[in-house]
Amino acid sequence: MSFFKKKKCFICNARTGTRFCMRNGAEICWHDCNNIRVDQKCPDDCEYSVKSNGIMSLRAKTDSQSEYIDVLKVQMTLWINKPQKVFADQIPFTLAESEEGKQKIIAYLKQFKINPIVPLKYIKERLNLDDLEVVSRQLSYEDKAEDIMQLLYTNEWYELVKSMPQYQYLESNNLIDKFSKFIASHKILKKISNFDLVSSALNKERNNALVYFDINNKYDLTINLQLDNEKWILKSIIAGSLDLINSEQEALQQVAVLLSKNETSKAFDLLSKYANIYLMSSDFEYYWGIYYTYLKNSKKAEIHFLQAVILDPAFIEAKYNYALLMHSKAKMHQAKKLYQEILNEAPTEPKTLNNLASMYIDEKEYGKAAELLNTCISKNPDFDLAKQNLERIKEFI
Ligand SMILES: [Zn+2]
Repeated sequence: MSFFKKKKCFICNARTGTRFCMRNGAEICWHDCNNIRVDQKCPDDCEYSVKSNGIMSLRAKTDSQSEYIDVLKVQMTLWINKPQKVFADQIPFTLAESEEGKQKIIAYLKQFKINPIVPLKYIKERLNLDDLEVVSRQLSYEDKAEDIMQLLYTNEWYELVKSMPQYQYLESNNLIDKFSKFIASHKILKKISNFDLVSSALNKERNNALVYFDINNKYDLTINLQLDNEKWILKSIIAGSLDLINSEQEALQQVAVLLSKNETSKAFDLLSKYANIYLMSSDFEYYWGIYYTYLKNSKKAEIHFLQAVILDPAFIEAKYNYALLMHSKAKMHQAKKLYQEILNEAPTEPKTLNNLASMYIDEKEYGKAAELLNTCISKNPDFDLAKQNLERIKEFI
């Protein structure tokens, strides 16, 4: 969340101004920058000035793919409406009124080797060039992020979770409603009235993308996507600009240090602050759980540990803490299921092996208990609790 009032674009006075325009001497949005700069009259000093020598060639710094596609469209609009030397100074728009003219334009466009990102479809539609073949471009991470924003905008939480990696887990454990409530509890996510893609960035490995949006011309929001089996999936949402992603680890560390020193009120302040930024962070939910455990508020601890599991079902520590709370509340069936899930992921996790074994001891299933305890001790020879438990049941096995 940005706490500074954002500057509006000098030209549209609606969107946020995100770059300085030398021709206007003010901050403007990229949409208006595109409208201005295609005339190629921007000073060379401006990093956003455009270089072009024809309709299919355009060099321009852009902050996102969406912006690049847009500047190409603006350039195409200009081209369509201006006399073109290649057509003996005829205007493509008028030329396209006859079938013969259409074929001339198609023949001209066909000679270019066109990158699929070029929105050729735009010219096709504007000039009704039915015979022009258009290759549709591959959907990018920006398209995915726009889809997610659309779902947030329409409050379709169920559709949102379907595109997330934990969908199956949540579905089979009846946790979809809890997830929806969790997402809907965020003020910003619930009240999106408009959104505008500002910029995006891809990491070196090209498997992680950040797409930054201006929300309601007021807030910053970054969608963090990850490539999973050649599909972009939602990893997290950050109420802030792109650079905040790099501060998450540091923020987590600060909270962990405060909690380990038992400075709970300071930890509370930081957790409150960061939970409003890292909206879908299983780590912060986990630390909220730890925080409430310190305060001996097991009810709230339970809510947060479960939320951490909902956000990341493979989060072993969060699941363990949640299982432990179920165990202490004598919700044996649930606790056992959770312990088993942990062991499926981490077969030698000592605390889980020991706790599950003690449940079996209570059920007089000594054989099963001994098996778990032996695994535990062989991998963790210093784990005394397991040794004591094994000692207890020696006479029964
Ligand atoms: Zn503007």
